[in-house]
Amino acid sequence: MSTTGTPDVIVVGGGIGGLSSAYALTRRGLAVRVLEQASAFGEVGAGIQLAPNCTRILDDYGLLDEAKQLGVVPTSMVMRDAVDATELTRLDLIDLERRYGFPYLVIHRSDLHGLLLRACQRVGVDLMTDARVESYETNGRGARAVLANGDAHEAAVVIAADGLHSVARTLLVNDEPVSSAYVAYRGTVPVEATAGRPVDLSEVVVYVGPGCHFVHYGLRGGELLNQVAVFESPKARAGEEDWGTPDELDAAFDGTCPAVQEGIPHMWRDKWWRMYDRDPILTWVHGRIALLGDAAHPPLQYMAQGAIMAIEDGWVLAEHVARQQEAGGAGDPTRIDWSAALAAYEAVRPEHCRRVVMTARAWGELWHLDGAARARRNALLRARDVHDYAYTDWIYGPTALFPEDEPPMYPVVPLAAADDLAHAD
Ligand SMILES: Cc1cc2nc3c(=O)[nH]c(=O)nc-3n(C[C@H](O)[C@H](O)[C@H](O)COP(=O)(O)OP(=O)(O)OC[C@H]3O[C@@H](n4cnc5c(N)ncnc54)[C@H](O)[C@@H]3O)c2cc1C
Repeated sequence: MSTTGTPDVIVVGGGIGGLSSAYALTRRGLAVRVLEQASAFGEVGAGIQLAPNCTRILDDYGLLDEAKQLGVVPTSMVMRDAVDATELTRLDLIDLERRYGFPYLVIHRSDLHGLLLRACQRVGVDLMTDARVESYETNGRGARAVLANGDAHEAAVVIAADGLHSVARTLLVNDEPVSSAYVAYRGTVPVEATAGRPVDLSEVVVYVGPGCHFVHYGLRGGELLNQVAVFESPKARAGEEDWGTPDELDAAFDGTCPAVQEGIPHMWRDKWWRMYDRDPILTWVHGRIALLGDAAHPPLQYMAQGAIMAIEDGWVLAEHVARQQEAGGAGDPTRIDWSAALAAYEAVRPEHCRRVVMTARAWGELWHLDGAARARRNALLRARDVHDYAYTDWIYGPTALFPEDEPPMYPVVPLAAADDLAHAD
């Protein structure tokens, strides 16, 4: 087994979580190496939504202006019923920016990933490709990540940002991804292709329907329209192998309004994604190895917080590193009490992410209701005051650094409360 150099930190995985945490730690004066299994750094997929709890961090990193130039800052987020197209509720994103101090931004995933990659290159992160980590070792003073070819990379700390199918996670828990039987199709189309459809690029629109939903918003300064169509696959539900095929997509959206149906032919039809999450775990640190991003807390995507949580993880860890550096006081940024920094990280992030993962499951169920439950949901959403932030304060406010700063969660309203609304009329 050969050993290659000794950075202060090794980050396994060069996705949005890995690169953003590598950047955050390098800014604190640490030498960071990223080990990515693919032969090139890149992102597949389409658009991504970045709420104020993420744009606040991008601003701290000095990256927000570039992100805004690459993306779109919409003025509203509108939720509509996918069957009758009526508006259910909306967020006024101009007022939301005033409340939280930072914008709601939508951006192409490859643009966000590219922005983070360039930031890492500027500060000198050691970026390695073709480096698949197969196993880990740790003791009280450091950790090592061992590649498929036998090379070992050692550092004081290894951050495992290796995604949904994380190898590192197996050090902490013997679990499997949980399948929701929902499937996502994506499709990014030139805006001209939407001619004749009721598409307003200043809005992020979510159509929620029985067993399905459809999302669209503008990208790249309004050149592109990003579309996501998600539905429950009968074949996935039945445990069949060929789940999520285009005939299932078409059938799932059969009963939806014209505005949604007109978008369906524009989805990419050669690739689709099964929706998985994992049950939350509250232990993310094993010796000097720490999980981060989807490796620690893969969510269903209904809260649009997966990549954001990964970015928050890196920011929180780097903030605690900075506190340890100040406590060390010796002018050497590498003199860090890593046990204390990792303990502080683990004290605050798992509980926040548990809340998001569980809320995303509940939010998905609410979106996909049918029959009387759908009518009750619609009544409750229509009754919501547009400027009521009780459901966003817990998530879009400043990222907590300590458990006591974690805000209380939103008030839970049972569907049956819709019946009281009807009686009040
Ligand atoms: C349809 C859909 C829509 C979404 N929309 C949003 C949204 O609007 N907003 C939002 O915040 N989130 C959204 N998400 C979630 C978000 O995409 C993920 O949570 C996020 O990308 C996770 O980033 P990550 O870096 O932790 O993991 P990944 O992106 O999975 O990156 C992991 C990296 O590690 C590498 N790797 C894996 N194993 C190894 C190994 N053994 N050795 C070396 N390298 C390895 C991989 O190649 C990859 O580059 C969405 C997800 C889906 C499916």
